Amino acid sequence: MKQIQTQVVVIGGGTAGMGAFRAVRNHTEDAYLIESHVFGTTCARVGCMPSKLLIAAAEAAHHARHTAPFGVHVDGDVRVDGHEVMRRVRNERDRFVGFVVEDVEAWPAERRIIGQARFIDEHTVQIDDHTQIRAERFVIATGSRPIVLPEWQALGERLIVNDDVFSWETLPESVAVFGPGVIGLELGQSLHRLGVKVHVFGKTDGVAGISDPVVLAEAKTVFGEEFPLHLNTEVSTALDDNGRVRMDYRNRDGESGSITVDYVLAAIGRRPNVDNLGLENLDIERDERGVPHAHPLTMQTSIPHIFIAGDASNQLPLLHEASDQGKIAGDNAGTYPDIRPGLRRSTIGVVFTDPQVAIVGMRYAQVYQAFKNPECVVVGEVSFRNQGRSRVMLKNKGHLRVYAQQETGLFLGAEMVGPSAEHIAHLLAWAHQQKMTVPQMLDMPFYHPVVEEGLRTALRDAMSKLDLSGNFSRECGCCPGE
Ligand SMILES: Cc1cc2nc3c(=O)[nH]c(=O)nc-3n(C[C@H](O)[C@H](O)[C@H](O)COP(=O)(O)OP(=O)(O)OC[C@H]3O[C@@H](n4cnc5c(N)ncnc54)[C@H](O)[C@@H]3O)c2cc1C
Repeated sequence: MKQIQTQVVVIGGGTAGMGAFRAVRNHTEDAYLIESHVFGTTCARVGCMPSKLLIAAAEAAHHARHTAPFGVHVDGDVRVDGHEVMRRVRNERDRFVGFVVEDVEAWPAERRIIGQARFIDEHTVQIDDHTQIRAERFVIATGSRPIVLPEWQALGERLIVNDDVFSWETLPESVAVFGPGVIGLELGQSLHRLGVKVHVFGKTDGVAGISDPVVLAEAKTVFGEEFPLHLNTEVSTALDDNGRVRMDYRNRDGESGSITVDYVLAAIGRRPNVDNLGLENLDIERDERGVPHAHPLTMQTSIPHIFIAGDASNQLPLLHEASDQGKIAGDNAGTYPDIRPGLRRSTIGVVFTDPQVAIVGMRYAQVYQAFKNPECVVVGEVSFRNQGRSRVMLKNKGHLRVYAQQETGLFLGAEMVGPSAEHIAHLLAWAHQQKMTVPQMLDMPFYHPVVEEGLRTALRDAMSKLDLSGNFSRECGCCPGE
């Protein structure tokens, strides 16, 4: 077995690992990057980018089918060529992956090792059965993988995860999606719009991670009108005589049914890849899912020389978070024991459905957890059903709710489903990070006629409910603005 001694080892060559390795190398070149599978990142290979490519094709099909209300008639059927759709998804995806791999290949080849890393002790990792590395510091950046329930294993190759979708040569006839979360909804809606027969199942009432009951109700209505969305539903699956999947389902109200589909897409969530890392050989503090605790500003675990970043940290499984956390963890592993807090930005999450879903700053559930007294919070809201520009474009579906602190008018967060949510979310996230108040946000310019005027309506609604007289005196518990 090859033996190596070094300063820093980064485990996992995805977005967080690459960010960490880049940051480490600003402090020392004596570092190694270990990747168990292939370089190219989950985001570029099987995540953010190919999913957005599939969504782009779905949007094209959807628009082509919905021109008539504008008086524009596209004669004949809209034909979706599954081979062409998937060819573009794969080709463009490969182009994005190529850029990432180019970055990786710019690093010295002898500093990149392929193989599965496992901790043997606090200072040693073994890679497969070919190399042992003793290092002073480590960054764990091993990402996450889809959760697959044991009972689904019997479905064999009829059970798929997101990775499989993006290697399809063409589109299947039918797919059942387990999990109306971010990934399930994005893929489910786009496959539906591309002509695949789609059913989306959820065990609970939840959709797309929305915690605000008003926004959630609108999301359920909008998506439920477009494709079969079975919430609060128990499902049993089995292969039929033709090798397809038969699904029997029953919801909480007793409604039941059966369908047969080509594939079942597992999208009930992702689990951090920390179970095959040999963490049991370390005396490291972990949460109930086995994920090492890490300080959110330093990414340092309870073992001071071990840092963690990206989906593996289970803090916020998003691409920009993986990048930020990777940089923080890499900088600190590089300069250890001189570690510093890094920049963590205001939370922003976008689901690229149509209409989109967005969550900014504190979610509804977090706001009401933080402020035990509901009188201390003000909610401003707008429905997009009659919003001017949205109606012009026939995109008038959705609802936005903004949350503010009663006493100060501080903007706390927002949840929305609706048009241009990705852009409104950015305005709100910038305002949140700048710790702006609702009156300050209303002092900002708004053009006419734009979807953002809907945001202004919600802010005005919040403003009308604020008591900024200085006389507000309730026991509010903690106040995030302080
Ligand atoms: C379908 C889908 C769509 C998404 N869309 C978006 C989006 O639109 N916007 C957004 O912000 N986020 C999106 N995400 C989430 C985003 O892709 C992830 O948050 C991000 O890629 C995580 O990066 P990472 O570096 O933590 O993990 P990864 O990029 O997965 O890197 C982890 C690496 O570690 C390697 N590894 C694992 N174990 C070991 C080991 N023991 N030894 C060595 N190497 C190991 C793995 O092979 C992998 O290469 C999406 C995800 C999916 C699945």
